[in-house]
Amino acid sequence: AINEVTLEFPSRSSNEGFARSAVACFAAQLDPTLNELEDIKTSVSEAVTNAIVHAYPDDLGKVLLKVRICPGNVLEITVRDHGRGIPDVEKARQPMFTTGGAERSGMGFTIMESFMDQLSVRSAAGKGTTVVMKK
Ligand code: ATP
Ligand code: MG
Repeated sequence: AINEVTLEFPSRSSNEGFARSAVACFAAQLDPTLNELEDIKTSVSEAVTNAIVHAYPDDLGKVLLKVRICPGNVLEITVRDHGRGIPDVEKARQPMFTTGGAERSGMGFTIMESFMDQLSVRSAAGKGTTVVMKK
C-alpha cells in the first residue's frame, strides 16, 4: 500500500461518527469529489454500525478499521470484528434481509455494494466478520 492507517475502537455507537470522519479525512488526500466522499462515508457508516449493532449484541467488543491507498489510487477500507459472525453471508447480503427486527431495514450491505466499486464479506459464525470495500 502507498499509505495505510489502522484504528481500533470499542463497539460504542458514539464511535460510528468518529470512524466515518476519520476515513473521510484520510480519503481527502485522493482528492475525491463530494459525491465520492459521501458514498465512502455512508458505506463506512453502514459497516461500522453493523459491527456495533450485530457483532456484539450484548456487550462491547473491538472493531478494527483499516484504510489504505493501493496502486492506482484505489481506496481500500476494511472493517473487522470478532463478534458472533454471519451464518449465511449470501443471504445476509440480500436487500431487506435483517435479523435486527423492526428498527432495521436490511439495506446496509446493499448500500455498501452500490456506493462502492467492490464489496467482499467474509464471516464465520462465532468467529467474526471482515468487510472489505474498494473505491
Ligand atoms: P440496516 O443496515 O438497513 O440498518 P441491517 O443491519 O439488518 O439493517 P445489513 O447491514 O444489510 O442490514 O445486514 C444484514 C444482516 O447481516 C444483519 O441483519 C445481520 O444479521 C447480519 N450482519 C451484518 N453485519 C454483521 C456483523 N458485523 N456481525 C454479525 N452479523 C452481521
Ligand atoms: Mg446494517
